Amino acid sequence: SGPTVAIVGRPNVGKSTLFNRLAGRRLAIVHEQPGVTRDRLRAPVRWKGRLFWAVDTGGLVDLQPGADVGGAILRQAAAALEEAAVVLFVVDARAGLLPGDQTLARWLRRLGKPVLVVANKVDSTAVEPAVHEFAALGLGEILPVSAANGRNVGDLLDRVVERL
Ligand code: GDP
Ligand code: MG
Repeated sequence: SGPTVAIVGRPNVGKSTLFNRLAGRRLAIVHEQPGVTRDRLRAPVRWKGRLFWAVDTGGLVDLQPGADVGGAILRQAAAALEEAAVVLFVVDARAGLLPGDQTLARWLRRLGKPVLVVANKVDSTAVEPAVHEFAALGLGEILPVSAANGRNVGDLLDRVVERL
């Protein structure tokens, strides 16, 4: 038991890499090919005396504008969102803002849960300016991180436990 934190986003943005980083172990398969996460994976995360369960999700198809997002999300991802105390909405700062991000954002705004926009693949300060365009998602604060090298992941964890 304990609160869960769902990791959602388009394929290939780095959800499983972030999940492994939070778990401190390589539990999820990271793959170049989208859609590799088939089962919902969960791992306990301890941060500053707090415990939560990180949940990796897959199965978010490449969303087109006007897509039926509810239908596009596999049952396991929908279940993860339903039980989540906090949602980590991962976007790819290198790819930039894509229509699929916008579609998912509209859906997450309606969900009415605390959402943190995690701009991933910010491996260095050079990529930092690219994150500003994600303000258009209208979901508040954007946290630039690198799941691959751990940059700013501590700040992200601070924000998560504040919202539990
Ligand atoms: P998922 O489909 O959202 O679960 O994405 P994955 O975690 O499988 O990662 C997709 C690709 O992005 C892989 O090639 C990862 O190595 C790469 N990736 C993930 N996080 C980062 C990051 O912080 N920086 C960079 N440069 N690449 C990353
Ligand atoms: Mg994955």
